[in-house]
Amino acid sequence: MADNTGIPNRVSGKRIEIIVPCYNEEQCIEAFFDETSKVLDCLEGYTYSFLYINDGSKDSTLSKIKSLVDRYGDDKVKYISFARNFGKEAAIYAGFENSIGDYVALMDADLQHPPTLLPQMIEKIEGGHDCCGARRISRKGEPVIRSFFSKAFYRIINNITAMNLVQGGSDYRMMTKQMVKAIVSLSERERFIKGIMSWVGFDTVWISYENVERYAGTTKWSFMGLIRYAWHGFISFATTPLRAVVWLGFIVVLSSVIYGIRLAYMSLAGIRPWQDTTTILMLLVFFSGVVICILGIIGEYMARIYLELKGRPIYISKETNIQAES
Ligand code: UDP
Ligand code: MG
Repeated sequence: MADNTGIPNRVSGKRIEIIVPCYNEEQCIEAFFDETSKVLDCLEGYTYSFLYINDGSKDSTLSKIKSLVDRYGDDKVKYISFARNFGKEAAIYAGFENSIGDYVALMDADLQHPPTLLPQMIEKIEGGHDCCGARRISRKGEPVIRSFFSKAFYRIINNITAMNLVQGGSDYRMMTKQMVKAIVSLSERERFIKGIMSWVGFDTVWISYENVERYAGTTKWSFMGLIRYAWHGFISFATTPLRAVVWLGFIVVLSSVIYGIRLAYMSLAGIRPWQDTTTILMLLVFFSGVVICILGIIGEYMARIYLELKGRPIYISKETNIQAES
């Protein structure tokens, strides 16, 4: 299947499609295309194409993509351009939904996902796996605080949900058409793709790579953005917080009963008078906090139900060069 260069050369006639979500990536579009094409051109017996999802970029990302279309043609370079920024999750969905490749790979536009891994990924899929994911084994160049929270997130989410997210597992994956179809069939609005890819099952194998810094531009993630992302992942797949709150309520009620008994005993024994405004005030504040916490979490789930019921489209495409099937 592969010669000693590690490049699969079996004449399979399979089509490889690279899905690239882009948001303000004008400095990366060309370099990404050149680097990735260089690797894919070495594969014999495969055809390949790119599907760029312009996620409402405010810079010249779209015109950079269009100039690639002009140079290489509609068959090699496809794009969908969103009406505004819908977020990476929506861009991924749009890419998967419109993909036509036999093997579909998801890659960031900033070259942080080394294209040199693609031949190895193809080899793994040809070897019978449904999906091959890339896993960062180092976090070189990443802020320490981000690494810390990221590791903690994986540990917590794997412990309390049915998901098994691999530490350092990135969105950089190649998968079969069948797996892509399964992912698209989950039509939930609030998407957490890492969880969905784990949830649909299929056989995923991981290959490792060293962290690479962005080719140009800046990350689209602020620290608060990442916290929101982690919380979103958590709420999308875990019902544990809801249950944990019930337990918390139970423990609080139990301790308040014990505390009340203690106060009653102390007042009966004449150690301390029953009327203790400080205690009441403290209890009042404490219970108010608990109630707000419970309401907050229930509200979070209700918000999800509300969004699902509304049935909003996941994205609104403004233009595309994909011909509608007649
Ligand atoms: N991205 C996107 N929509 C967004 C934010 C990011 O399509 O709202 C794309 C971005 O252009 C890049 C990929 O998602 O191709 C990963 O983003 P980024 O490099 O900023 O994330 P990081 O690598 O820092 O986690
Ligand atoms: Mg990046």
